[in-house]
Amino acid sequence: MTGHKGCVEWTGIVVKRLLSNEYYTGDSVHGKTGGKLFAGGSCGAEDSAGYVVRDTHEALVSRADFDRVQEMKAEQARVYNGKRAEGRRCAAGRNKFKKKVVCSDCGKTMYLFRAVSQEGDRFFYGCSSHNRSRKVCPYRHKVMLEDLEAAVFGVIRSHMDACLDTERLVRKLNAGRQGTERYRLMSRQADRIRERIRQDAGKKAGLYADFAERLIDGEEYAALSERYTKEAEALSAELEKLLEERERYERDFHIEEGWEKTVRGFLGERELTQGMVDAFVTRVSVDKDGDCEVVLAYDDMLAELLEAVREREAENGEG
Ligand SMILES: [Zn+2]
Repeated sequence: MTGHKGCVEWTGIVVKRLLSNEYYTGDSVHGKTGGKLFAGGSCGAEDSAGYVVRDTHEALVSRADFDRVQEMKAEQARVYNGKRAEGRRCAAGRNKFKKKVVCSDCGKTMYLFRAVSQEGDRFFYGCSSHNRSRKVCPYRHKVMLEDLEAAVFGVIRSHMDACLDTERLVRKLNAGRQGTERYRLMSRQADRIRERIRQDAGKKAGLYADFAERLIDGEEYAALSERYTKEAEALSAELEKLLEERERYERDFHIEEGWEKTVRGFLGERELTQGMVDAFVTRVSVDKDGDCEVVLAYDDMLAELLEAVREREAENGEG
């Protein structure tokens, strides 16, 4: 193809332009962008994108070839758009985490997308902010779906193991001499608090008699009565805390019921299931290298229990 500056190379862009512009079929197209202006009907063959005057100059592409190429392009676009829509549906169907996967830099929810390659489809999580603006989030935070799921499964597995191991360990400690001793000590402490609560209630009842016999006046009665009420509240709170702590020293120790049920319910799973994600996962934070930090719903409970065991072992070490 020659232009006014001489030889033009047959680059992709040139070919694309040649096959996209009706001018090269030898026809002149008018009103392409303002097609509606001519909608009332005017000279020349008319279509929705303007009107065409046939054979105004020499053709570089035959009309038949041009039309065929337009059909092919439309078909390609249809296939491409269909694949994209299918990819999105396909990806959405695979996302067990919904909004729980977040970018460690910008904190936004990461979306799951499909990458089509010759080895087959692959799915990745990526940062949605990064796609919109590199300024908001400079890194892609890309991680493969399988890798993320494997990481989460690993974290849940070790949580379950740690949970049951710790439960067993606590029971063993409780059955030992020191555990039994501690339980007895706490029980005696609880009895003493109960006794004080009983005595205070008696004293409070006696106050009214003192007031009726005019041993104390109304003001004194009100002040003492309030003091006993506050004391009783403080003692009840102390007792409750003590009993809660004593539970951990019971020979037949069990972790919190809901937690245990969840852990035992998923012990047999060999891969990550939707149920596991729903029950355990609070958040998965993906850093710029694609490493995942997994936060589980029962992390606090496990940390607390482990801390209790550490304390106990320290006590035992001293004793
Ligand atoms: Zn981000």
